[in-house]
Amino acid sequence: MIGIFGGTFDPVHYGHLRAALEAKEYFGLDEIRLIPSAKPPHRDTPQVPAAMRLDMLKLAIEHQPGFIADNREIERTGASYMVVTLESLRSEFPGKSLLLFIGTDAFNNLASWYQWEKLFDLAHVVVLTRPNSLVKPLDKFYAEKQTQQTRQLREQLAGKLYFQAITQLDISATAIRTLIAQGKNPRYLLPDAVITYINEHRLYKS
Ligand code: ATP
Repeated sequence: MIGIFGGTFDPVHYGHLRAALEAKEYFGLDEIRLIPSAKPPHRDTPQVPAAMRLDMLKLAIEHQPGFIADNREIERTGASYMVVTLESLRSEFPGKSLLLFIGTDAFNNLASWYQWEKLFDLAHVVVLTRPNSLVKPLDKFYAEKQTQQTRQLREQLAGKLYFQAITQLDISATAIRTLIAQGKNPRYLLPDAVITYINEHRLYKS
């Protein structure tokens, strides 16, 4: 099974890394691919170029086996639609289950994603929840897909919906960017190697 963890990673932080590690261990994944979005369809394109966000991601995970910084959205032109990313992963890994990890906010807005129903033809969708997060009531489309058995995620290549509670550290890239712009020290929120890169390239200064 292969996990897919998309995001802007502007910059990557311990909230992302801890969630990805827990997901990898819980589902016994062969690998988890962290995929920076070049041009996120639902938000402004980040000021820090995608290539630099990828560099930071590589530094953050270089000592973690099974974590892969995947550059396929950066290599592609046009908006970073997840369905296109999954098509490319599906053709690269025809025999593997694909688990697409998303947060509850993303899940609650999934119907606004480009060709969202097709996501389930290509991958399972795993919603990473936190204790007080509110998930909207499931309609028939979702209810038919929901499973509580990880075995089904392994046996089928795609098509299931699964909810998994996970530690979500109270860290956001927005807060980190704000700290740095204010001249404060972001240490312990993200790996030191990433902080060094940010300082060397003078990123996120106001
Ligand atoms: P920003 O503050 O710029 O919106 P972010 O910190 O939310 O960024 P993203 O790159 O947008 O990070 O998030 C990528 C993925 O990581 C999303 O699926 C999001 O739900 C998840 N994520 C973000 N922060 C955390 C966290 N603290 N714990 C667990 N998952 C997180």
